[in-house]
Amino acid sequence: MPTLPADLDSGPRRGPAPAAFDVERLRADFPALHQEVHGHPLVYLDNAATTQKPTAVLDVLRHYYERDNANVHRGIHELSRRATEEYEAARRTVAGWIGATDSSELIWTRGTTDGINLVAAAWGVDHVGEGDEILLSILEHHSNLVPWQLLARRTGARIRYLEIDDDGGWILDDLGDLLSSRTRIVALSHVSNALGTINPVQDVVARVREATDAVVLLDGAQGAAHLEVDVNALGVDFYAFSAHKMCGPTGIGGLWGRRELLDEMAPYQGGGEMISLVERDSSTWASVPQKFEAGTPNIAGAIGFGAAVDYLSALPHDQLLAHERELVGYAMERLRSLEGIRIFGPPDPEARSGVVPFTLDAAHPHDISTIVDAKGVAIRAGHHCAQLVMQHYGVPATARASFYFYNTRDDADRLVDALGDVLEIFG
Ligand code: PMP
Repeated sequence: MPTLPADLDSGPRRGPAPAAFDVERLRADFPALHQEVHGHPLVYLDNAATTQKPTAVLDVLRHYYERDNANVHRGIHELSRRATEEYEAARRTVAGWIGATDSSELIWTRGTTDGINLVAAAWGVDHVGEGDEILLSILEHHSNLVPWQLLARRTGARIRYLEIDDDGGWILDDLGDLLSSRTRIVALSHVSNALGTINPVQDVVARVREATDAVVLLDGAQGAAHLEVDVNALGVDFYAFSAHKMCGPTGIGGLWGRRELLDEMAPYQGGGEMISLVERDSSTWASVPQKFEAGTPNIAGAIGFGAAVDYLSALPHDQLLAHERELVGYAMERLRSLEGIRIFGPPDPEARSGVVPFTLDAAHPHDISTIVDAKGVAIRAGHHCAQLVMQHYGVPATARASFYFYNTRDDADRLVDALGDVLEIFG
């Protein structure tokens, strides 16, 4: 690992880490949490959509633009050298977060959606043909459905679906029938954004490996944000995730892929930086990861993502997870006391990440969300880009409270109180 310039060594990314998990102390790191909304202190419970950013990340972004802003891998000048060093150091940091041992296997993307589209386009085009099969589950976010539908339409491949039971778990007994010698790719979510289900991906990967030589992609948008991830231990081929779900900036994410697959894949987009040699009629490609990173990348975003991972890495991960689970259990218990509530997803809080989706008989999710917003409580309402899940339960939408490590029991209480107002208004 190259040493950072001396001025960066003392820069914000290296700031002191909190000594132990203390939610109030951690909350102080997040300026956006300390504001009033509609005259009430903000309760931010829309973390599955995006998380707030700690000062450590904001400082790094500001520091980068104030001191080091330059294009990477090109300029032979000091600022470009610094920018390149920070950008590649961030790649190593983020690769480490998901247990990757070779950081060249981590491609910068715009986020999970972009990473999955990259695989569907660049890998799919050479490996999926007419009559081949793509295995998805109905639990998937549209980001892990539509790119495959586009590929299936182009190639004549067939999509098959793993169904879920009413607790939001995959029906694994069906897996044997769904896998065949025609299965080319299995693309599944690590953690569901719509129900919070932590999926048994390791078991599924083992069964896929036994039955087929299909490639396995995991949508890690929620997984990388809430679980400890080790792509090698999971045994997958691709893992796509987004910085903004885990304290980092928007518009940047990572796609990890096995080196041998990345090496033989055609480029996704053409342009500057992804070539080795350009001639009149043809070009040759740079090696990975640059082969998949055409054009000027989101340099500040990548560096900010590295800072987010540095921030998270300094926290006691086990305690954060335990806190999130305890909060989810508490919130579910309190919510159950409300009249006409239906909570979706696994009944056991241990089996879900921070997501608690629900409906009330008395009011539409959009009305619920509008009324609680007036009390300063931010939740999401809608289909959560998971219309197949909504169809499974026969509902058009749900309200979704999603917790992160900086939330408190008080946040859950404020939500329940605000929902009491909803029931009064619509009662
Ligand atoms: N998959 C899941 C499970 C998600 O939660 C999200 C974000 N809601 C995505 C994919 C898409 O992520 P992004 O919008 O950052 O590309």
